Amino acid sequence: MNRYIYMDNSATTQVKQEVLDEMLPYFNINYGNPSSIYTLGSKSKNAIEIARERVAKAIGANTNEIFFTAGGSESDNWALKGIAYANRKKGNHIITSKIEHHAILHTCQYLEKEGFKVTYLDVDKYGTVDLEQLKNSITDDTILISIMFANNEIGTIQPIKEIGRIAKEKGIYFHTDAVQAIGHVKIDVDDLNIDLLSMSAHKFYGPKGVGALYIRKGVKIDSLIAGGAQERNRRAGTENVPGIVGMGKAIELAYENLEESNAKLIKLRDRMISKIFDRIDYVRLNGHPTNRLPGNVNVCFEFIEGESLLLSLDMEGIAASSGSACTSGSLEPSHVLLAIGLPHEIAHGSLRLSLGDFNTEEEVDYVVDKLVEIVSRLRAMSPLYEKIKEVK
Ligand SMILES: *Cc1c(COP(=O)(O)O)cnc(C)c1O
Repeated sequence: MNRYIYMDNSATTQVKQEVLDEMLPYFNINYGNPSSIYTLGSKSKNAIEIARERVAKAIGANTNEIFFTAGGSESDNWALKGIAYANRKKGNHIITSKIEHHAILHTCQYLEKEGFKVTYLDVDKYGTVDLEQLKNSITDDTILISIMFANNEIGTIQPIKEIGRIAKEKGIYFHTDAVQAIGHVKIDVDDLNIDLLSMSAHKFYGPKGVGALYIRKGVKIDSLIAGGAQERNRRAGTENVPGIVGMGKAIELAYENLEESNAKLIKLRDRMISKIFDRIDYVRLNGHPTNRLPGNVNVCFEFIEGESLLLSLDMEGIAASSGSACTSGSLEPSHVLLAIGLPHEIAHGSLRLSLGDFNTEEEVDYVVDKLVEIVSRLRAMSPLYEKIKEVK
């Protein structure tokens, strides 16, 4: 094996060289604490404010509405817990969906133990939330609607503008986990009526361990992390200056190259899907056929275990994912695939190939060739598949 093909860009991405170049001086040259008043400190402080401007610009927010965090999970926790506790007197009901990331779902479960009520909306077979069910779920006690922008497993993009409109009409806060959408979808928080938005740098070619929460001016929210006065008193802890600098550069690059990158990814994605369907039988596409993330391919191969598929791909030097990164290694099939109505045995044979800016057409073709070989080898060991072939 002399090549390595990375097709797991929804799990994390490679830090781009331009991003790394901007980060490096903040480790060992401009290493001052941003809270210190001497020049070395203010260099760090200024760098954070430049990054804040870049992040704000990318989503049409004001700079004082961007708060840096340690990533997508923290932003999700903060949005949910912060809104729940600060608005408890107003109501105790939260609406989310069944296909959210675990950072949302597990936080909701925690809040249920704390006495909050949570409605988990169903999705249709493409993974789209039902707007009628959303409207019908709203009560006088509803304080927050949290629906992800785009799903990390099947790539489906939600009707965010409609959800924002419904929330606004009812005077309910609207949070969206946009971790997968940032860098692929044009987002304007005013146009979409978004009150809170989570993002994470390592999903768009920035560093791991840094993210941000957009909080619309005037939104009532408690802090998650207490301590010093950083982030205008709302998120304590000495800032991850190199990480924040990297995030600013990465988001700027992502939106500068948005159209070009999306066009390339869609072409690769659709090439891959059509080749898989041409060459392999008993396969189904998960997620919305068109309204999906540009780099997302998620398919189920019947009569095959996702885990064996991943291991065989890994032996060929191909990195992909089955279910979600957090569930692989466990035998429970993905909650997202179950929510779109797949039976357990089919949900087990899922494969997510998430393409990124560094993938090529040649790699797509190579991976499809390998998939054809691996799927046919694994199916040769499946008595059920052999039986079905005989009947045909
Ligand atoms: C990756 C991801 C997260 C978690 O982000 P981290 O920065 O890894 O904590 C949350 N939501 C979605 C949709 C994700 O894809």
